[in-house]
Amino acid sequence: MYSESRGDRLSDFSDEQKNYLQGFAAGSGIGLSLAQLPTWAATLDIVQTKKPHDAGEDRDPNLAAQSRHLAEGKKLPAEETAKRDIGHGLDVWNRMLEHAKDARFPKGTDVFLFKFQGMFYVAPAQDSFMCRLRIAGGVMSSHQLRGVAQIADEFAGGYADITTRANLQLREIKPQHTIDVLMGLHDLGIINRGSGADNIRNVTSSPTAGIDPQELIDTLPLARKLHHHILNHRDMYGLPRKFNIAFDGAGRVSALEDTNDIGFTAMKIRDPADFISGEQIVFRLTLGGITGHKDFARDTGYAILPKDTIAVSHAIVRAFAEHGDRTDRRKARLKYVLDRTGFDGFIREAEKHLPTGVKLHSLAVDRCEVRPAFDKLGHVGFHPQKQPGLNYVGVVVPVGRLTTEQMRGIAKIADQFGSGTIRLTVWQNLLISDIADAEADRVREEIEALGLHHRATSFRAGLVACTGAAGCKFANAHTKIHAMEVAEHLERSIGELDVPINIHLTGCHHSCAQHYIGDIGLIATKVQVTNTAGEDDMVEGYHVFIGGGYGDDKAIGRELLRNVVAVDVPRYVERLVRAYLTHRHSGEGVRGFVLRHTTKAILEFIDTDTFSTSTPLSAS
Ligand code: SF4
Repeated sequence: MYSESRGDRLSDFSDEQKNYLQGFAAGSGIGLSLAQLPTWAATLDIVQTKKPHDAGEDRDPNLAAQSRHLAEGKKLPAEETAKRDIGHGLDVWNRMLEHAKDARFPKGTDVFLFKFQGMFYVAPAQDSFMCRLRIAGGVMSSHQLRGVAQIADEFAGGYADITTRANLQLREIKPQHTIDVLMGLHDLGIINRGSGADNIRNVTSSPTAGIDPQELIDTLPLARKLHHHILNHRDMYGLPRKFNIAFDGAGRVSALEDTNDIGFTAMKIRDPADFISGEQIVFRLTLGGITGHKDFARDTGYAILPKDTIAVSHAIVRAFAEHGDRTDRRKARLKYVLDRTGFDGFIREAEKHLPTGVKLHSLAVDRCEVRPAFDKLGHVGFHPQKQPGLNYVGVVVPVGRLTTEQMRGIAKIADQFGSGTIRLTVWQNLLISDIADAEADRVREEIEALGLHHRATSFRAGLVACTGAAGCKFANAHTKIHAMEVAEHLERSIGELDVPINIHLTGCHHSCAQHYIGDIGLIATKVQVTNTAGEDDMVEGYHVFIGGGYGDDKAIGRELLRNVVAVDVPRYVERLVRAYLTHRHSGEGVRGFVLRHTTKAILEFIDTDTFSTSTPLSAS
């Protein structure tokens, strides 16, 4: 209606006037950017005949990169074409309004585009939407948590899942309620644009940022700045594939920054002669983490001042947008650009996008002090903060799921005994901070009254599971259910372990639960069995890895067994743990034990003959 009436008014221009305006626009170089302005767009035929992608190219490196690929005769996959046709993925909003009005689910590439606004249509796993939030550094207020609980009750399934990016997801959203959910979140100050599709995902930081006695720097303000930077720069959307960024402040709890495309790791420079601009604390730049493809982020040899991390992130994302593969989505992550260009080649490209005065400083890693060690159980239980007399408590949330009643209860505890903040962690649990020494017992009682715990066995504290078949169409198994079965079985059969252990279950090759970095990692598969009627059947199962790690112990797990049916998994894992307990050296963790033994030796320890379906890997 609006554009029609505007068109009527502007049709008063004569052809001569239109020609003049076209020439003016083209000559001044503003023709393309005029397309962004609706009042001018209708005036000029030159603009009217252009598609959204033509109009935005001068401002959006993603569109320009697509054009380059096309000019070279390459074919874009459906996702790139969908982004190109709409001009900018966030502009799917109007389409979403239409679908919500008609209570319709999206079809075709609209399923992909809806993810720009954080809405995932997850059929056939569930005939509904999942909404992924966006919570900078995983830190939210009690008011926000209560608000999310309200939205979950009104428009979703009455629960929320904590993700491995210190974020929340709501599930079971009907098509008529997508906009209700998004408006509700935005009202709470939770702007989740770009939480899915080919965008920069939730920016994470050390979960104990600002309260950690051993941290070198508080990373939360940086994560927040970057979060808002992304939200306000449209060229940070529509990348070749998803992109992860994390800040590690060298605190006690890992941010797993070396599993991100960009990992900023705080370190202290050893020698005053190396200080940069007088600064002693720098971030080392690591790039290319993607553990699902068996690669950690690696140190680039460059250090960055904390104040420059936002500009450097922007420059790296710009270079990725320009040089990422737009034709093969399996090869479209940053790792593959780095494989092609090498670190230095890529850094030279990124430097072209740095503002004046921002620099990457070449600084060998051994010029920095070694990062203080992690406490692998630092995300569970009570721990003193750097503020005297105050503590944080890590609440155990089995496989990350919280009911809305528990969410309200957590918010109440945070208000009554803490500072009203809740910190989500990449370990799928949450911390409540700023609890006075004298209040610790009350808080313990309140947490237990919610059916949650402040203490956990090592098995449960280190348990990570992706969404799995209950809500993800890619999943080969019900990972969350199987994770709980594993933990319960280990607690029944072994009791407690005297060292931390990470057991990660992931539902498919996307590896959201990062099975490769677990001490014991499981990736779901379908296993062929013979059923009781004597027929071939496919059932849920797993391939088993052992000896993965992160931080100083970083390692990709070694594949040990293939095709273990899910029902056998708890007993296999028990035997692995018992083999470790029996054959470990004093003080040795699972990784050390695995390094000292061949695959064949470990298989002999666990005696796979007594199970019917697995395929042991016999390589040494
Ligand atoms: Fe879904 Fe696969 Fe991610 Fe699990 S790992 S949540 S199955 S995409």
